[in-house]
Amino acid sequence: MSKRLQHVLVVTPERVVYDEEARFVLVPGSEGDLGILPGHTPLITTLRIGLVRIRKDVAESGFVISGGLLEIRNNQVTVLTGAAETPEDIDLARAREARKRAETRLAAQGPSYDSDRARAALMRAITRLRVVGK
Ligand code: ATP
Repeated sequence: MSKRLQHVLVVTPERVVYDEEARFVLVPGSEGDLGILPGHTPLITTLRIGLVRIRKDVAESGFVISGGLLEIRNNQVTVLTGAAETPEDIDLARAREARKRAETRLAAQGPSYDSDRARAALMRAITRLRVVGK
C-alpha cells in the first residue's frame, strides 16, 4: 500500500516551526518550485526565498522562508531555514521598512555595498509583503 502521509519538519535556528504529518508539501527550490508527495525519493537541495505550503487534510499551512536546505529521507521532509513566518506572524511595517532600506541601498551603492545582501534583503521583504497581500 502506498504511504499517504509524510513527516514534515520546518526548523529555524530559533525554533521548530512545524512538526507534523502531512499529505503534500510545496517548497521554493533554488531551481524552481518542488512538490513533494509521501514516499519521495531521497533528496538534498537548496531552497530560495519564498513560500512553503503544507497540506494536511483540507487545512493548509504556509510559511515565508528566507531560503535554506531541504532534505527528504525515509518519508521525512526537513526544511532548514534562517527564518520562517506564517502570514499572521508577518509584521507589515517592519517588512515595508526593510524593503525601503534595501531599495535605498541598491540605489546608492555606497561604501561597503554588498549587492547580493541588498538583493536578498529586498527579496525577503517583497516576499513577506506579497504573502500578506501588500
Ligand atoms: P529586518 O531587516 O526587518 O530584520 P530581515 O529580512 O533582515 O528583516 P531576517 O534575517 O530574514 O530579517 O529574519 C530575522 C528574524 O526576524 C527572523 O526570526 C524572522 O522571522 C523575523 N522577521 C524579519 N522580518 C519580519 C517581519 N516583517 N515580520 C515578522 N518577522 C520578521
